[in-house]
Amino acid sequence: MLDSAKQNRKAPSQMRSIPAMDALLSEEWTEPWLKQLGRGTVKRVFDAALAELRRRIAADEAPLAPDAIRSALADALARRAGRGLRRIINATGVVIHTNLGRSCLADEAVEAVRMTASRYGNLEYDVEEGTRGSRNSHVEDDVRELTGAEAALVVNNNAGAVLLCLSALAHSTEVVVSRGELVEIGGAFRVPDIMAFSGALLVEVGTTNRTHLSDYEAAITDRTSMLLKVHPSNFRIIGFTSAPKREDMAALAHSRGLVMMEDAGSGLLVDGADLGLSGEASVGACIASGCDLVTFSGDKMLGGPQIGVIVGKKCLVDQLRNHPAARALRVDKMTLAAFAATARLYRLGELDRVPTLAMLRRSGESMEEQARRIASAIGGVAVQVEDAVGGGSHPEHPIPGWGAVLPCGGAGGAGRLLAALRSRSTPILCGARGDAAVIHVRTLLPGDEEEVIAAFQRLVPN
Ligand SMILES: *Cc1c(COP(=O)(O)O)cnc(C)c1O
Repeated sequence: MLDSAKQNRKAPSQMRSIPAMDALLSEEWTEPWLKQLGRGTVKRVFDAALAELRRRIAADEAPLAPDAIRSALADALARRAGRGLRRIINATGVVIHTNLGRSCLADEAVEAVRMTASRYGNLEYDVEEGTRGSRNSHVEDDVRELTGAEAALVVNNNAGAVLLCLSALAHSTEVVVSRGELVEIGGAFRVPDIMAFSGALLVEVGTTNRTHLSDYEAAITDRTSMLLKVHPSNFRIIGFTSAPKREDMAALAHSRGLVMMEDAGSGLLVDGADLGLSGEASVGACIASGCDLVTFSGDKMLGGPQIGVIVGKKCLVDQLRNHPAARALRVDKMTLAAFAATARLYRLGELDRVPTLAMLRRSGESMEEQARRIASAIGGVAVQVEDAVGGGSHPEHPIPGWGAVLPCGGAGGAGRLLAALRSRSTPILCGARGDAAVIHVRTLLPGDEEEVIAAFQRLVPN
């Protein structure tokens, strides 16, 4: 009784120590926040933070000194300002890092986006004829040339591309897929779910590790419309495995009047060997093997913006163009501009202008040199590391890279350092090896090196 009576007397005087909103808003330290976030947002953040202070006082938790109150308010503002898209320095060595936005655009693509975004353009206007045009026309020739396909169509992303193909060509009919390819790709793309959503009926054949041509053959009925091959992406079945050759599947499909479709996932436009990646079929190779339709992403191994590309037989692609889903999944003009500019770099053979390709093709010497430079600046050592393609590409093949390793003195030191690097206004993400932080140099972009060095020198003074 006595205790609670004391509390009730204490609380009002502490409540009075909470600063008034108007006073806070005119204090000097809030000025930059008002500029950055706007008055309304700063007020809302203060309201919520002050309500929390009142709750603490009412609950008789330790009262805060005026300085601590201001610092709690500043933290709340910083948290609010930290929401929204921010730059991150990728020192993980994972090139197509899905959580970090997959591919970084080439300068040429960024410039094309700027032009298209800020000006009127011929997005859907045929300048010669003076009539309505098609947005797809701006990239169709490029994609056809780069893949050898008869026709091409672009949509929002590869998930959309698969959905459109199945909805338009396989609704209410059976689509045969190997059990080993019924995969889930990060971000909740699950082949059976997309198929159900499209209205196609999934017919699973074979086993997880082995599917034979005869399995496909036996599953074909008069309700079948398509054989579908799916790139297993982030997943590999190794050991006692078997899958029919693309050519044989295509020949079977064609002999029965069916469509042979492949979801190629990453979408290589060059020979995998050119990127040091063996065993990956390029989109052109899939088309040459007889696939009628191939779909792929623009922002994985291709190194462009988020887009989904469908290439293949003209008579099939033409059926997709006017489907309602094509309109719902259509590509925005900025994306289209970025994609066209990226495709142009491929046509010109300027592969190293595309950051994703440049990172994948970086020479050991160039990485070693950079790793040594960083290591000597931060008091670490340069070592060989394992990098990754990422984006669900080549999961079983780490790619050899170089990194600067900084031991962090045991007892969770690396975890603390990594957390401090993440809490910067431009977070730095690096790898860890035991109790050492590892800066993978492959994925550093121009300007990153200096910032990484400065951050390490500040956080780990020698
Ligand atoms: C990545 C991937 C997808 C999804 O592509 P998005 O462009 O992210 O929509 C679909 N299928 C395969 C095989 C993939 O690798």
